[in-house]
Amino acid sequence: MIIEIRITAKTDDSSYRIIQYNTDTQKIHCDCVPPPWEWCAHVDAALVAGERFMVHPDDREKADIIMAQMPPLTPPDGWKGSWRRNKEWRGLPPTPRRAPKANDTHAQLGEDLETYNRRPTVCFTGQFEIARGEMVKMAHSHGWRETSSVTQETMIVVASDPDGTSNKIRAARMNGISILSYTEWLETMETGEIHI
Ligand SMILES: [Zn+2]
Repeated sequence: MIIEIRITAKTDDSSYRIIQYNTDTQKIHCDCVPPPWEWCAHVDAALVAGERFMVHPDDREKADIIMAQMPPLTPPDGWKGSWRRNKEWRGLPPTPRRAPKANDTHAQLGEDLETYNRRPTVCFTGQFEIARGEMVKMAHSHGWRETSSVTQETMIVVASDPDGTSNKIRAARMNGISILSYTEWLETMETGEIHI
């Protein structure tokens, strides 16, 4: 049986590419490359990284099924996976979005809960150069609220490895949330701009 999903990169004129999975041979093929090539950014995004934003809404469940059934694919030598950093390609909202600036010192801890809850939220994942407690303190002093899980209201996820596959990173990709490296996060706190 062949399972088909439609996937689109927003930089490809929004037309859909078709990825086929043959349940008998367990072969994957995307129509952006001639067979028997099994690898392309669409396959990497939809079926390896679990990106769902680009998959046609009616096909997302099928994408989950293919992911569960297909054998592990190995990227070609030198594969960079640069689509992960390309918000335009992924069809995610335009950037930069406004974030608090470093000098917004009125946003101190100790404010009432309602005010605190209005802060933009950041979620950390992975091991960083500094202790997590320090990361949180720094986020607070720059007007952010830290949450332990990724939800729809999360504005950004800061990851020690932004190309990783932790549950938080996957959840961020599925919800179109910006994923920043530690360095980018430091920059965002200072400038108030999110570039990824
Ligand atoms: Zn493709």
